[in-house]
Amino acid sequence: MNSKDRHPDWAAHLHPETLAIRAGIHRTREQEHSEAIFPTSSFVFASAEEAAERFAGRAPGNIYARFTNPTVRTFEERLAALEGAEACVATASGMAACLTVFMGLLKAGDHIVASRAIFGTTVQLLTNILGRFGVETTFVPLADVASWRTALRPNTRMLFLETPSNPLTEIGDIRALAALAHAHAAWLVVDNCFCTPALQQPLQFGADLVIHSATKYLDGQGRTLGGAVCGSTELLNSGPRNFVRTAGPSLSPFNAWVQLKGLETLGLRMERHCANAQRIAEWLEARPEVVRVYYPGLRNHPQQALAALQQRLPGAILSFDLRGGQAAAWTFVDALRLLSLTANLGDAKTTITHPASTTHSRVGVEARAAAGIGDGLLRISVGLEHVDDLRDDLERGFAALAAR
Ligand SMILES: *Cc1c(COP(=O)(O)O)cnc(C)c1O
Repeated sequence: MNSKDRHPDWAAHLHPETLAIRAGIHRTREQEHSEAIFPTSSFVFASAEEAAERFAGRAPGNIYARFTNPTVRTFEERLAALEGAEACVATASGMAACLTVFMGLLKAGDHIVASRAIFGTTVQLLTNILGRFGVETTFVPLADVASWRTALRPNTRMLFLETPSNPLTEIGDIRALAALAHAHAAWLVVDNCFCTPALQQPLQFGADLVIHSATKYLDGQGRTLGGAVCGSTELLNSGPRNFVRTAGPSLSPFNAWVQLKGLETLGLRMERHCANAQRIAEWLEARPEVVRVYYPGLRNHPQQALAALQQRLPGAILSFDLRGGQAAAWTFVDALRLLSLTANLGDAKTTITHPASTTHSRVGVEARAAAGIGDGLLRISVGLEHVDDLRDDLERGFAALAAR
């Protein structure tokens, strides 16, 4: 290994843009410039003694790719550097990262307080799966710190949120919720999928763990599934790392490689994603067909100040309410030719969804209404196309509404 490749000693003062490109590189004897992929399931030991030492954890080195793979480790070190975390454990998907945190740290009888505005599949995981193993979850409104406090029980071990929320872009006060969690000897876990470390570093505000779906912006081009958990070495070693090693939701080296190459351009991409989103949001806000636009970069956003405090930029997910309910929303979507009608987000390609009939259809009408997800609501994940082309396409949607 080239001594110049080491991290973090020489890298302590580097900027995020540099870390995104340089952190975690451990060159092999081949002196490759770009990071290598190691498609191997196991690693060879020089002697029986070395094998024994590695298995016992007394000597460093690779053993088996379910828990040690050099490409995956490079991804972990780079993402940890970007989040300002000591350590990171990569997982096969974002949901595997959530599962790793829950199964790695909790036991039957424990209680979670979670924002009710989290990814739908995470709600299913908490209720339908963890519930069967004796871990109960109470869901509360993200922005109402008082109801988080009220929901705490003696056995509450974890507070869980995403900020901004999907699809209404509500902001959770990370610092306030971290204080609440710590006063209760509980952990605060933030799913930072929407912002990525390029826009927001939850650990800075007191969160204990950050979860990622690397499938989204970290990959950035909608190619691979992946996930990660970032935090202190001590906390990750107290359960999550061993859960991945033992239960096996491991990130493949190929996916790790795609995602770590994605990290190199993350900052640049996020800036353009956000610039495009800001312009689309302002343009939509001025349309008479639109009741309301939800975007933290708009002056009408009730928590714009908190968003500006926690986030470098407002993000690239926005939603808007169309007059005319589901019929209008579907007419609008079906008239588009450029925007992709797909559930993914965080892609270079702009995507649009109708939450009430897709991502949030399993939530039930009443819960949807309580959460403010109306039938006329559309969510856009603004991509990297030229913003004028995106606007022209959205114009097709408005033209179709006018022609009804
Ligand atoms: C997509 C997503 C997940 C799940 O990630 P997968 O990689 O699809 O398993 C978790 N949280 C948020 C906020 C997401 O958008």
